[in-house]
Amino acid sequence: MLNEQKISEIVESVISGMQKGNKKQLGIFDSMTDALTAVEEAYRQYRRYSVEQREKIIAAIRKLTLEEAEKMAELGVKETGMGRVVDKTIKHQLVANKTPGTEDLQPRVYTGDDGMTLIEMAPYGVIGSITPSTNPSETVLCNSIGMIAGGNAVVFNPHPNAKETANYAVDLVNRAILEAGGPENLVVSVENPTQESSREMMQSPIVRMLVATGGPGVVKALLSSGKKAIGAGAGNPPVIVDDTADIAKAGRDIVNGASFDNNLPCIAEKECFAFSNITDDLIQSMVKAGAYILKGEKIEQLKKVCLIEKDGKYSINKKWVGRDASKFLKEIGIDADNKLIICETEEMHPFVQVEMMMPILAIVRVNNIDEAIEKACRAEHGNRHSAHIHSKNIDNLTKFARAVETTIFVKNAPSYAGIGAGGEGHTTFTIAGPTGEGLTSARSFTRQRRCVLVDGLHIV
Ligand code: NAD
Repeated sequence: MLNEQKISEIVESVISGMQKGNKKQLGIFDSMTDALTAVEEAYRQYRRYSVEQREKIIAAIRKLTLEEAEKMAELGVKETGMGRVVDKTIKHQLVANKTPGTEDLQPRVYTGDDGMTLIEMAPYGVIGSITPSTNPSETVLCNSIGMIAGGNAVVFNPHPNAKETANYAVDLVNRAILEAGGPENLVVSVENPTQESSREMMQSPIVRMLVATGGPGVVKALLSSGKKAIGAGAGNPPVIVDDTADIAKAGRDIVNGASFDNNLPCIAEKECFAFSNITDDLIQSMVKAGAYILKGEKIEQLKKVCLIEKDGKYSINKKWVGRDASKFLKEIGIDADNKLIICETEEMHPFVQVEMMMPILAIVRVNNIDEAIEKACRAEHGNRHSAHIHSKNIDNLTKFARAVETTIFVKNAPSYAGIGAGGEGHTTFTIAGPTGEGLTSARSFTRQRRCVLVDGLHIV
């Protein structure tokens, strides 16, 4: 027999569970074990859905994302203290408008004397996804659209410092799914993501594929999991400007790209190598486009604010990642409201070599294209992530692209053209360099299946 106190404890825990979990925010669970059980059941149901029904769900996610883009942008900035609301709003709009849906799953057919063979893109099943603090809701939404388009269900383990924003997006996706007639808990997450919940997710037999978007640590952990994994890792994108470029446009484009969302995007210009004979003009055009030029002692002062030195090695001071340029300036005694700080340094300065994700761009003078390419490749550290160039010389464009071997290479435009903002091609916030899928989309989250019919359906 239960006594009154026991009954009231149970009622309280159920109510609190409803408020915290399924009731208040759809798809958010107290434990990874519960999230996995729920998503497994959702996937079982989702297997029966047609491609048309998948598209209906995706259309509903796109619509809600557009409606709540600004709200999520505000939430992201508020929770993490990083980035800019206007830019984050654009990022959500990009996800909604330019993340491919089921049209990305093109089958292939071979026909010939022996009949017909068909290759179709099949779901993996339940996918486990680890998301970063820099694009928390954008990555959840973009992954959800692509993974659902591929016929999968998803369990997220978001970055602990951005869990509210990421889980808001999980709830939004579930609201859209239910509105479109889809199953409950097709996309799930945990209320308090930890390394432990991440490990449980990675090791669970329910999870058939893993996707991680983040720095080198998480990609390494994922690739040691023994499962099919997609790793979208760190970058440190250089931009080269040679003396054939339209310097005024190059300055404007670089300021726009490097200051976008306070330099949080992994694709954003993070250091610049400029031909000496155009560097003064380039700096002038950057200042005209809204950059603040920092000189002398102030550069060293800024270095002490945003970087931590240990045994001659520099790492980022995390509390300064993605902050407004004006805050850095204020910290070193300058009262100005610019969107980017620029300064001239030598090649080995930490502003060049460290992936800072702060609105600070170092400019290094070089004498020719070979020197520019050599130094840019060194600064990219072999990540093969992103690199950019402003030039009208086809030989220079080609030479740099061949040498740097990056997944994204943008010519004569801001870096964000590489993810579909003002450039052709689809959007993603999971750029898989290490594992080679490139700019991920629905097809990245599928497995190929071959179906062979001998002596039939070859009709010509
Ligand atoms: P982060 O590496 O600190 O965290 C990313 C995610 O990985 C988080 O969910 C975190 O909890 C988890 N994580 C970290 N170490 C882990 C480990 N050892 N085991 C399991 N999980 C672990 O990255 P961040 O600061 O949130 O994001 C910025 C980094 O991500 C930058 O390096 C940036 O270049 C990169 N990034 C890459 C892409 C891309 O598409 N390639 C996109 C966005 C960000």
